[in-house]
Amino acid sequence: MRSSLESVVRGAGHVLAATHVSPDPDGIGSLLALGMLLERMQVSHTLVSQDGVPYDADFLPGADTIVTDAPHDFDVAILLDCSEPRRIGAAAERLDEATVVNIDHHATNTRFGDVIRVDAGALSTSQIVHRLAGELGYSLDRRMATCLLAGLVGDTQGFRIAATDARVLDDAAALVAAGGDLGEVSRGVFGARPLGHVALWGRVLAGASQSAGVLSAQIRLADRRAAGVAEDDDAGIVNFLQSVRGTRAAVIFSEQGDSKVSVSLRSVPGVDVAAVAADFGGGGHRQAAGCTLVGDLIDVSSRVLARVRQAVDDSTLGRGSG
Ligand code: AMP
Ligand code: MN
Ligand code: MN
Repeated sequence: MRSSLESVVRGAGHVLAATHVSPDPDGIGSLLALGMLLERMQVSHTLVSQDGVPYDADFLPGADTIVTDAPHDFDVAILLDCSEPRRIGAAAERLDEATVVNIDHHATNTRFGDVIRVDAGALSTSQIVHRLAGELGYSLDRRMATCLLAGLVGDTQGFRIAATDARVLDDAAALVAAGGDLGEVSRGVFGARPLGHVALWGRVLAGASQSAGVLSAQIRLADRRAAGVAEDDDAGIVNFLQSVRGTRAAVIFSEQGDSKVSVSLRSVPGVDVAAVAADFGGGGHRQAAGCTLVGDLIDVSSRVLARVRQAVDDSTLGRGSG
């Protein structure tokens, strides 16, 4: 199929391809795989991640080709794994003149852009890029398969989330058949934490509190400093909280340097945390979402926790939309 996406990309002078701030293996893996496609199509491009490449994606082939600043000139911008344009960071201000392509799988995607490839049923953006490669007539090589597999493994938490279905496993099997190494990818995504996480987990988990199925904890700037962990790294603690028996929603509040607090949310099916995050200007998926609020840690925590409790109560009463 000659998609309009294909004509936009083939006709481009220079493509800016970008993923979201505080990136994850899906954002970076999708970005790198798209870059490999653009390379094969001989389309000039720059791969941008404003916050660089995190520890759980730096093993991916080509990770060192990603830059943090958008190029001066580009006429096509491809945004990956972004529910809205401002998720790419500062370069969002410079999209007015460009043809914008929106490739994403968030339930809260605003359907921005000129070419829209949004599938909220996909469990990773990399699944959509995988399909796109097929549509454009390109077979997968080992490097591309590795990047796409990292997106799937990251966003499904190693094929463990409730939404993991036969289509995802079929896609994963195709990626492994194309040379993706599931062991290597799982180790790169889940087994490459910096040592500082040990100290951070110790400090943060010591203060965790539980109430009516909601388990939450706070990361203070002082905790980060003491543990030597970067500001945008919440060390995956929220996934651990969600693994505790009886937890219907898990929340991590993370103090940022500029009187902002970023919030990470996880939930069981039936509790819709995307709706919670959207109420505070953020977004995500029903079972994994986030938002950033202005305010101090205590104030933000109490506001958000009240809303999370409401979502949990609604689900108990059978009113949840998750
Ligand atoms: P995280 O808790 O950072 O792993 O994010 C969980 C999900 O929510 C991911 O799909 C993120 O892309 C999304 N997300 C996190 N923060 C925001 C935000 N401020 N706005 C929109 N989506 C977000
Ligand atoms: Mn993501
Ligand atoms: Mn994703």
